[in-house]
Amino acid sequence: MNVSLLIIGAGPAGLLAAFSAARRRLPGGVLVVDRMPAPGAKLAVSGGGRGNLSHRSTEEAFAAAFGRHGRFAVPAFRSLPPDALGALLAEIGVPTVFDSSGRLYPRSQSAAQVRDALFAACTRAGVRFVFDRAVQRATPPAAPDAPWQVDAYSAHSVLLAAGGQSAPRWGSDGTGFALARSLGYDVVPPVPALTSLRTAETWPAAHSGLSLPDATVAVAGKRGPSVRGEMLFTHRGISGPAVLDLSGRVARLLQDGAPVPLELDLVHAKPDFQALRREAGSHSVHVWLSHILPRALAGTILELANVPADQTFSHLSAAQETSLAKHLVGLPLTVRGTGGFDDSMATAGGVSLKQVNPDTLEGRLTPRLHFAGEILDLDGPTGGWNLHWAFCSGHLAGTAAAP
Ligand SMILES: Cc1cc2nc3c(=O)[nH]c(=O)nc-3n(C[C@H](O)[C@H](O)[C@H](O)COP(=O)(O)OP(=O)(O)OC[C@H]3O[C@@H](n4cnc5c(N)ncnc54)[C@H](O)[C@@H]3O)c2cc1C
Repeated sequence: MNVSLLIIGAGPAGLLAAFSAARRRLPGGVLVVDRMPAPGAKLAVSGGGRGNLSHRSTEEAFAAAFGRHGRFAVPAFRSLPPDALGALLAEIGVPTVFDSSGRLYPRSQSAAQVRDALFAACTRAGVRFVFDRAVQRATPPAAPDAPWQVDAYSAHSVLLAAGGQSAPRWGSDGTGFALARSLGYDVVPPVPALTSLRTAETWPAAHSGLSLPDATVAVAGKRGPSVRGEMLFTHRGISGPAVLDLSGRVARLLQDGAPVPLELDLVHAKPDFQALRREAGSHSVHVWLSHILPRALAGTILELANVPADQTFSHLSAAQETSLAKHLVGLPLTVRGTGGFDDSMATAGGVSLKQVNPDTLEGRLTPRLHFAGEILDLDGPTGGWNLHWAFCSGHLAGTAAAP
């Protein structure tokens, strides 16, 4: 079969790319090949099934959300900012709403509806799909006007939107990286991101299910990255939004083989023990702490700080004060591992951005090969940033691949 554009991967990036390209009415049409039996498996379960599709933001905030290399994402963001994504989805029958924190959801609260509508819109626009077929091999054109060969298909242009390596049960199992490598592209070693962290300490298990709405989780050391927000204790360590958002950077550090020390700031200011002694000298430290933290956790903190549970402020020694303050603003934890790719919502690492033109998302090493979505070396925090990147990069790459 000879097609104008062959897209590998029917995730949100591939679907948006197919839709944008098909609107240009290419003579040989658009074909999408996916290894799964249906499109957008991961999109359909995103956001706990509600689909946090995007995040209201400026281009500066969008770039900042993706960290050091975030400027790379700006041309794609400009091609389809959050409001334009909302308008596009409304046009295909999916009205959306921004919540009070700026997150965009389908009004139906159904991520599957978004997937179904995108698939239907592509089909209406003439896009053809082949499912249950994993692409094994892509061979670049042998001459300037020759086509690409992708398994049994010939295509004028190819768009690689095969995702990362996270949650492989929903499709993206890292074979996209192998395809990119086989074409000469560098792949920054993938590590799981947006995943839970497993600690050497076993005490978090005693508080499994307990969440703290406002903690700061930091890699220990003055210049270590930190994230402030909600966190959760689990039976194997810690999780929750703040931990998920830090996890990619911790996973990268774990690659060196050594455990990663963390510090949790639970209260955001050292207690004023002088004032407490003056105003509440006969009061129990445990009772005071139980007004600030959940009672059971307060007990654990006192134990870790070597402060007896019945200690009063007037009997607190200088050493105990120092120890308690340290455990409240810098509670030490040691990370030995992450939830792994199976338990991660994003992949950090991927096709090197140095080898891709940000204005067209075309690879610099091979003609007429574009990239979109999670396969590229960009990952954002929780909050709709990753899906927005998939959608807007799909839009830019699909448009650029279909001149
Ligand atoms: C449980 C979960 C919840 C999430 N929730 C959110 C959320 O609410 N908001 C948010 O912003 N992000 C969320 N994410 C992240 C988001 O889903 C991804 O960033 C996004 O799906 C990436 O889109 P993509 O199209 O690049 O890749 P994918 O969605 O992974 O799609 C890639 C497609 O390529 C196919 N493929 C792979 N290799 C081949 C091959 N060799 N041949 C043929 N086909 C192939 C796969 O089958 C898959 O269909 C969540 C992720 C998970 C796992």
